[in-house]
Order: sequence, then structure tokens, then C-alpha cells
Amino acid sequence: MEVFSCLSHLQCTRCNRTFAVDERIQTCSCGAPLLARYDLQQASRHLTKAHLRERPCTLWRYHELLPVRDPHFVVSMNESMTPLIPLHATGRHMDVPHLILKDEGALPSGTFKARGASVGVSKAMELGESSLAITTNGNAGAAWSLYAARAGIHISVVMPIDAPVTSRKECALAGADLSVIHGTIADGGQLVQRLVAQSGGYDVSTLKEPYRLEGKKTMGFEIAEQFDWSAPDVIVYPTGGGAGVIGIYKAFRELQELGWIGSRLPRLVVVQAEGCAPLVRAFQKGEHTSTPWKNPETIAFGLRVPKALGDFLILDALYQTAGTAVSVGDGEIVRERGEVARRDGVHVCPEGAAALAGVRRLRQQGWIGDNETVLVMNTGSGLKYVDQLSADGREIDLQESSALVSNI
Ligand SMILES: *Cc1c(COP(=O)(O)O)cnc(C)c1O
Ligand SMILES: [Zn+2]
Repeated sequence: MEVFSCLSHLQCTRCNRTFAVDERIQTCSCGAPLLARYDLQQASRHLTKAHLRERPCTLWRYHELLPVRDPHFVVSMNESMTPLIPLHATGRHMDVPHLILKDEGALPSGTFKARGASVGVSKAMELGESSLAITTNGNAGAAWSLYAARAGIHISVVMPIDAPVTSRKECALAGADLSVIHGTIADGGQLVQRLVAQSGGYDVSTLKEPYRLEGKKTMGFEIAEQFDWSAPDVIVYPTGGGAGVIGIYKAFRELQELGWIGSRLPRLVVVQAEGCAPLVRAFQKGEHTSTPWKNPETIAFGLRVPKALGDFLILDALYQTAGTAVSVGDGEIVRERGEVARRDGVHVCPEGAAALAGVRRLRQQGWIGDNETVLVMNTGSGLKYVDQLSADGREIDLQESSALVSNI
């Protein structure tokens, strides 16, 4: 019989307790996030590299290693494999000749959050949920609102008032129940818990359920596949809640267990903003958990997470892969965003620009070696943040370009 998913059980990331998969579950009774586990022997009987070549280029091509058992429940907009874009000019300027951008801006809603939303909404449908709730810095809310609309399921979205207006408008457009708060994504999490306690619903905030992470994991599968089942030397990720890093790491571990890749893993790099860098601070002290960052502040809004629920998993991924963590200033982010647009014609989001600034820093420090291949995740399209550009007009030479227009 055709097997769509080889999902076997859920496992606690802290106490290792296991759970069956057919009921709604949030986190472990000990409070830690749960991870989806698969029967990888079964998967290797059903899935081969040759199969993958024949399948459509959407993230559902890896369905044996995704949690949805019945394809009938899949909610998808044919999320395409995102492109690898060599950044020749920027790479030359940074002395990183093999600098490659993976552009997640190509996905529905313009960010990688579509991956978690497609898989997470699908699994929620399979579990029979009729209402979802999420706290977000904007992009997850937008993606989940759109996928929830497509599935015909209700969603409550809680978002800080200073989150980028584009994503707030997307939530409203898609018919989400939107609450805007004075506070951070963490304060939003408390409101979500109250909403869920009052009127039911499934909390799909970062790592509050095990399935959204599985969508993000497909970034790792794609990177391995696009590098012909090997990996770049370094993967650089702008990190907030950290599901991206945890997902990529989990993907590479599963591919190792399948025997599809060798023992060498890419060194994973977390980039945060100087105004909110709890993971960098913890990494520099060699610690395994982080402490909440007071008054988080950065224009790279997706990075404004004072404490990640999965901080210990992110830090573990860094230690296990001989990776590192680095923070960059908002000035560097603005500058890098303008420079990569002018040099290579790519309009990255501020988070992607932060990751590029992190590469520049790590090369200067010698942490990135000569001729290493460095993959930078551009987690979203710059178009989601055009509002920031007018405010930073001087940085992008708006005056110069408008002077040009009046000369014509
Ligand atoms: C959510 C988000 C991030 C942070 O990703 P995590 O997986 O939560 O660490 C980075 N960039 C953008 C554009 C985002 O929307
Ligand atoms: Zn536990």
C-alpha cells in the first residue's frame, strides 16, 4: 500500500517522553516542545532520490517525512522550491567568493513562514481542528491567515502594534480575527493562551505544537537536494524564535539517518540584531539556555523575540555543528540591504540583510575561511518591508534617484 507519511510518534525534547500522534497535543507535560519522529526505515523503502526527481517541485515532495498521513488534508499553494542565487558582486566585496542566497521571498505570502503554515494548517485539518490561534511578529500571522483561509478554518492572530503594517494588512485581508497589542510577541503568547482557555482552539505559535516545525524542516531537505545531497560549508540564518535553525538541523539529521548524506554537517550560524540578541549572549557564555532580553528593539522585526521557547535546541544545533552566533546593528542591516540591491539586484528583507551583515563580520574575523561556500537564508521578500525604506531614504539614496526623475 502507498504510504503517504512515515510519522511514528512525538518525542519530548527535554524528558524524552513519547506520545501517540493521533490526537491534538501542544507541548509535553514538562512544558518542553515536542518533535515529530518518523519510521525512517519505512521511509527509505518508500522514498528514493530517484523518486524525488520525478515529483513536482513543491515542499510536499518530501511527504513521507512530513506529518500529514492522508493527502486529502494537504493545504498547499504549490510552494515551489526556492531559488539559489549566487551573489557574485557582494561575495567579491566581502571576500566570500562562494556566497549564495536562498530566496524564501519566492514563497506564498513572501516569506518562509508559508512552509510552516502549509504543513501546520494541513495537520490541524487532519486532527479535526476548527480554530487556530497564534502570536506573531507579523509574517507568520500573514502566512497562517492565508493558509487558514484556504482551508476554511478560523484563526485568531495576536501581533505587536509596531509590527510591519504589510503583514497586519494581509491578516485582515484574509479574514483573520486580529488583535493588536502594546507589547512583544511573548506578551502576545499570554493573550493567545487566554483566548484558547476561554474559547478553545489550537495554539500554533512557534513550537507550541510539533507540526509547524516540520514545514520549516523542508528548507534543510531542499538545501541538501539543491547541493546534490551534500551541503555548503556554512548556513547563515537570521534567528528569532529559531524554528528555522532547529528545522534545518533536524532535516540534516534525518537525512544522515537515511544514509542520504555523509557525516559532515554544515556549520550553522545564528544571526541576531544587537538590540535583541539573547541567543548570541548565551552562546558567547557557552550556555545551553538563554535569559529573556529586556526591551528588544530592531528594525528586523522577525528577530524581535526576547526568549525562544526552543533556545536549548537552537544552541545545541550550534554546538553540534561547530557553528556560531553573531549580532549586527540596525545600521549595518540598512546598509547591507541597500548594497546587495545595488550590487546584485536582490531586494532582501531586513532579516536577510542581517544575515548578510553577519557573513561580512564572520569573514572579517576569519571564522569563515578562504573559499568556503556560504549559504545565506533570505527569509522573506524585501517587498514586505517597503514602508521602512522611505524612513531610511538617505540610506537608499532616494534623493539621488528622485533628482534623476526631475531631470528627465
Ligand atoms: C520569522 C522570521 C524570522 C525568524 O525565523 P525563526 O525561524 O523564527 O527564527 C526571520 N526572518 C523573517 C522574515 C521572519 O519572518
Ligand atoms: Zn517532557
